[in-house]
Parts: sequence; structure tokens; C-alpha cells
Amino acid sequence: MLKVNAFEAHQAEHLPAQQQALIARRQRLLGPAYQLFYDQPLHLVRGEGVWLYDAAGCRYLDMYNNVASVGHCHPHVVAALARQAGQLNTHTRYLHEQVLDYAERLLASMPSALGNLMFTCTGSEANDLALRVARDFTGGSGVIVTRYAYHGITASIAELSPSMGEYVAVSNTARLVEPPYSCPQQPEQVAKQFAEQVRGALADMRMHGIRPAALLVDTLFTSDGVFADPPGFLAEAVALVREAGGLFIADEVQAGFARSGSHMWGFQRHGLVPDLVSMGKPMGNGHPLAGLAVQPQILERFGRNASYFNTFGGNPVSAAVGMAVLDVIEGESLQANALRVGRLLMEGLLALSARYAMLGEVRGAGLFLGVDIVDAQGEADGPAARRLVNLLREQGVLIGAAGIHSNILKIRPPLCFAEEHAQLFLHTLAGVLDKFQA
Ligand code: PMP
Repeated sequence: MLKVNAFEAHQAEHLPAQQQALIARRQRLLGPAYQLFYDQPLHLVRGEGVWLYDAAGCRYLDMYNNVASVGHCHPHVVAALARQAGQLNTHTRYLHEQVLDYAERLLASMPSALGNLMFTCTGSEANDLALRVARDFTGGSGVIVTRYAYHGITASIAELSPSMGEYVAVSNTARLVEPPYSCPQQPEQVAKQFAEQVRGALADMRMHGIRPAALLVDTLFTSDGVFADPPGFLAEAVALVREAGGLFIADEVQAGFARSGSHMWGFQRHGLVPDLVSMGKPMGNGHPLAGLAVQPQILERFGRNASYFNTFGGNPVSAAVGMAVLDVIEGESLQANALRVGRLLMEGLLALSARYAMLGEVRGAGLFLGVDIVDAQGEADGPAARRLVNLLREQGVLIGAAGIHSNILKIRPPLCFAEEHAQLFLHTLAGVLDKFQA
């Protein structure tokens, strides 16, 4: 997954000398593990709203960014950050109201059973903590994740992120299940098939003497290729895991903070109350802020015995930023916007998919959409998706790809994405598809 649409070193020879030098310097200093996007990497210097600007002053419509979710460099968020940074920045070992006000406000957006909030700096750390708590509470070690999931980079979470590729081994106490593939003709089958997968994974764990600790899923299944419908399909699988003594961890790093349009949290689309909820990315609009909401009785023993301190997690500046992000989501009605503009985008993409054979199924929720790119036989076409993504970049539109075949266009603009931006994207995409087929 991390290598999807990655720049490859041999492509450097076609680039201007200055950019080649920057790439070489980066390679020398940061080492070989980092990736750049696009055949022609971008050198960005400024962001504003849905727009990114490169060093040459060219403007790009950012449709790949659920981090700067309320818009790049949103003035309200920047001001809150600067104000608190100019006053005090410490950590959670001192008393401070800001972090409590923020925790209170964030928890109020969730079901009341989720009564505690712990702070981290990244989604990976939040999932790592969720795993520790779930293993402590259940006494189990087994975790069920989907076949092409991504949950983060710590040692124990990388083992639960099969989309990292074969070099990163999957934990031997993990079981992989197929994602809930969409089935528009028989939507009721999605829940059944997913539950069947989970039942099989639990049976296999039992056979190998592994006690289940959790089902860990991204509630929009974004890395697997964006599988959102029908709402409610997760409930049956979650019930099975709970029956077997495991917990449900909702990874909201992608789906959370109003992205799905209909709800603040992805798990709410499924009518569920998770045991643990990890969150990150959009939480700080680019500032490293992430966290874990937990049902208090689940945290009780772990908290008492293990205790927890994260140097940067929950500092007053982060809390001020998080609060400002919530102000903007509410003040600018970004959830309603995600629903409305997401629908327009979906309708536009459906119309294009009727015109262009290479656009297959279009699906998603709110401002997180996936579009299958397929060949003449209707099979996944990763190379075509890559070309399309690069052609769009040339035309000033940034999107990415996902899925096990890297053939699913991943469309997730900032939530302040407006109708005019949707029209511009659809128009640009049609132009690129015309070129593609010519
Ligand atoms: N969970 C999901 C679903 C993610 O998409 C990501 C990041 N792509 C993470 C967890 C990890 O978050 P971070 O990069 O902040 O560690």
C-alpha cells in the first residue's frame, strides 16, 4: 500500500536538474524506506483550503487529503495553535483545563459508553494502545483484520497491516478475512459473507488454541478499496467476536471526524458501540494529534496496573488545535457539506462510469469515494489506475489509488470541498479519460 503510485528512482532522469538534486539529497539523508508520490514528484510549498501550491506557483486541487480535513492551513486552527504555543506547552502530568475540555467535547460526539479518552500523537500509536488494552482485558492475543488492511507502523500494528506487503510478516496470532466486498444486487449478502469470514477466523483461532482479543477494522475499509454499504453490515460480525470473548476496535483514522457525511464516526453508520475507537489524521488537521476512546470498564485494570504517559500526547497545544478543528467542523457544517458534495461527486462519477468503460463500480460514503479501474474484460487494472492518477496530477488534480490490485481510485478531499471543486474534478477527469482512450 505504501508503494502505490510511488515514484521510482529510474524516473529521475526525466526530471529537471534541480529536482533531481533534491531527490538525491533526500535519498542520501532520509534513506531508502521513504516513498514519493507520482512519476513526477511534487515539491509543495503552500496550502490553502482545498488547494496546494508547488514551488513553481502551480495550483493543485487536493483530493487525496483527509489530514488537512477542514482545509489546508485553516486560519482558525492556525490561530488556536499559535495562541496556545505562545502561552504554554507542557504535558499530561500537570493539571490543565484545555485537554479536559477537549476530551469532554470529543467524547460527547460518541455514544456515552465510550467514557475515557487517551491521547497519542499518531494513529499507529492509538491502535497500538488499543491492542494492549484489548489484550489485557480479554487475556487473548488473536486479532482479526481484513486482507488488505492498514493500521499503522509500530512493531505490533505493522504485523496487523497486511497491505504493507509480504516483507512485513503478519502476526501468527492474527487471522485475515476478506473485506466486505460490495454486492449492490444483494446488499443483505454483505453482512452474511463478512460474518461468515469472521466465523471462520474465530474457528481457526480456536483450533490453534488462540484466544481472540479483537476485531480491528477501518470502518470504511479504505485500504481494502472503500467498502461502505450497506450501513449496518458490520453488526453481525461484531456480535460473533463478542460472543467469542473478543472486543471490537473501530479504527476511525480514515472514517472519523464527519468524513462519511451522514455521521461523525464511521461505526455509527453500522449502529454499533465499539469497545475502543482509535482516531488520528484529521483530528489535528495536520498537527500530530491522535487518540483512543475506550469504555472505562475495559480500561480499568490496564490503567491501574500499566499506567500511561505519552510525552507529546494530549499537550495543551494539541488540545487547542483539536478543539479548533471541532469548531470548524461544526461552525462550517462540514458534515452536511460532506454529505451534499459527496452525493454530487458520486452522481457525477456514476454518470462518467456509464460513459467510460474503464470506470467500474463507484462506491463510498460522504467525501470518501472509491472507483474501480478495470480493463476491457472488467478485471482490475492497476497500471491503468496509476496512469490515470499521474495524468490527473499533470492536470492539477491530486488523487491516489488503493486496494490489493492498486486499481481503486481513492477520492477523499478536505471536507470543505465545494460543488465548484467537484465540477472541476469531474470535468478534468472526463478530459483525462478522453485522452486515455484516444
Ligand atoms: N489506521 C488507518 C486506517 C490509517 O489509514 C492509518 C494511516 N494511513 C493509520 C491507522 C496510522 O496512522 P498514522 O500514520 O498517524 O500512524
